Amino acid sequence: MSLKSCKRFIKRIGFSLASILPFGLLRSASGRDVLMLNYHSIQGWDVNEVIRTNNSYRTLDEFEMDILFLKKKYSFIDLPTFLSYAKRQATIPVNSVLLTFDDGLSVVYSQIRPILLKHKVPAVFFINPHFIDNKDLHYQRKKNLLHKSLKDNDLIGDFESASNLLKDAGISSKSISSGIDQISYRNRKVLNDLARCMSFSFDEYLTKNKIYLDSSQIKEMIEQGFYFGGHSLDHPDFNELSIQEQYEQTVGSIDEVCEMYKQKQRVFAFPRNDNKIKNEFFEMVAPHCEASFGVGGMIDDEVAFHWRRTDIESSQVKACSALKFYYCKAIVKQLFGFGIYKRK
Ligand SMILES: [Zn+2]
Repeated sequence: MSLKSCKRFIKRIGFSLASILPFGLLRSASGRDVLMLNYHSIQGWDVNEVIRTNNSYRTLDEFEMDILFLKKKYSFIDLPTFLSYAKRQATIPVNSVLLTFDDGLSVVYSQIRPILLKHKVPAVFFINPHFIDNKDLHYQRKKNLLHKSLKDNDLIGDFESASNLLKDAGISSKSISSGIDQISYRNRKVLNDLARCMSFSFDEYLTKNKIYLDSSQIKEMIEQGFYFGGHSLDHPDFNELSIQEQYEQTVGSIDEVCEMYKQKQRVFAFPRNDNKIKNEFFEMVAPHCEASFGVGGMIDDEVAFHWRRTDIESSQVKACSALKFYYCKAIVKQLFGFGIYKRK
């Protein structure tokens, strides 16, 4: 059993054990005022999803069941209400929940938005300005597409040229496929050259497949009462970046979203995991960011304006069981003195 499946197995046992305990008791014992949830997509919408993130998402029915459960047990709050609480300017309704969605995928407009409107649920969407209007595609998705093209077409157009392109990007590998695997955010530009070499067009793919939201959809959603924030310019792995680059990705995306869509609230959600982000970075962005959001569940963060969100989307169990487990985890962490996440 791999480490990943072992972890999943242990988590499933945790979900089962926690599900015996009463929800209300766990929630109040955890002392959590606000629940912050992050979602991305809907199962089956995106053929690239499993390869890209290894995530499992909710089906549309399961997502609606989450919403109905949350509506029964919590009060949904919008971004301004959350921010006034976050800045200690207001008290928050008891058992509040803030719903957030990362990546700006067009499924949030076509499938998620109608459910949120139906149940009158507010939400915040974190987007990557470089991908909006399908101007470009995330490098990991490009890698998946090239892998698929290699598989479908046996032989690529010019093997030698492709090998040379990889070599020029500092990648030596036995096959084009393993070379593609080694491409990181840093040398992502080689993907465009490789695609040309393989007679594959990302532009054509994006014309046929509207992966991301377009500006008119975003404007319509804002008119309908939803809020938008930055999710970095083009979704890099922040661990590959210098602090200056992290700053530019963060403040740049907040600026663009605020300017383009007249958003007053300056908020940001980290692409991927934020555990290794240093205090120095938060000090740099503090004057430009009212609140930032990460992942990592129900503990506080030593950075006062940074909030850790909980993921029930990939839990593969009902919202009630997943949340019971995460409340248990929060209680245990607090008991053992790990209730606040410390950074370097
Ligand atoms: Zn993301």
